[in-house]
Amino acid sequence: MNETTETSRSDFRYKRVLLKISGEALMGDTGFGIDMATCDRFARGIAASVKAGAEICLVIGGGNIFRGLAGAAQGMERAQADHMGMLATVMNALAMQSALEAIGVPTRVQSAIPMHTVCEPFIRRKAIRHMEKGRIVIFAAGTGNPYFTTDTGAALRAAEMGCDAMLKGTQVDGVYSADPKKEPDADRYDELTYQDVLARDLRVMDASAVSLLRDSNIPIVVFNLHEEGSLHNVLTGQGVCTVISNT
Ligand code: UDP
Repeated sequence: MNETTETSRSDFRYKRVLLKISGEALMGDTGFGIDMATCDRFARGIAASVKAGAEICLVIGGGNIFRGLAGAAQGMERAQADHMGMLATVMNALAMQSALEAIGVPTRVQSAIPMHTVCEPFIRRKAIRHMEKGRIVIFAAGTGNPYFTTDTGAALRAAEMGCDAMLKGTQVDGVYSADPKKEPDADRYDELTYQDVLARDLRVMDASAVSLLRDSNIPIVVFNLHEEGSLHNVLTGQGVCTVISNT
């Protein structure tokens, strides 16, 4: 038995979580679209934590394929472009479903835009039941509405699903005072309040997502998704991360 599978349920700092993965994270080094080797790597990390007893649901962005703002900048009507962005998130959700099921993890995709022949529609009580049965629920199509982002969709689903935390997997191990890739002396924060993030415009995620999580008192945990074992470490309170909460 490896370290991960030995975790007792009481060892979790966060038991039921929503993990938000940006669309760009799925590109790997390819520069566009979906890299299945990267999806497989994420799937293995998620599967290990689920096996250890965590309840995880996912929201995946669409920025690796299409962003509404980019379409609008080229003259498309914004709502139309946002619908295309939401469809991109459905493709990513199906790719992660394939990666998870290829390693034997049961999943369900639920879309905020009903697409009955492709996946289930979003039904909150059904999603909760899936999670209780050990399935990973992947929420696709964000909030289902234009002018929003998948960060806000993730915050909404985290609240609806009664999650203990919303985890935001990024390329760095937390929130910094400046972009650590451009400014190596930037400070990393262990803890922040929602108000810090909003008032100092720290750009962890959009303000509507942060305020929804603040109102629901759900901590935001920012961590490096690309580091092996990082998800499990964060769930058990050992990993390097920034926790954003009311205290
Ligand atoms: N989108 C939307 N409503 C939502 C969620 C997403 O209209 O509730 C659209 C929007 O056009 C956005 C695109 O879907 O640009 C992809 O989502 P996002 O930019 O949040 O993806 P990420 O940056 O996480 O990859």
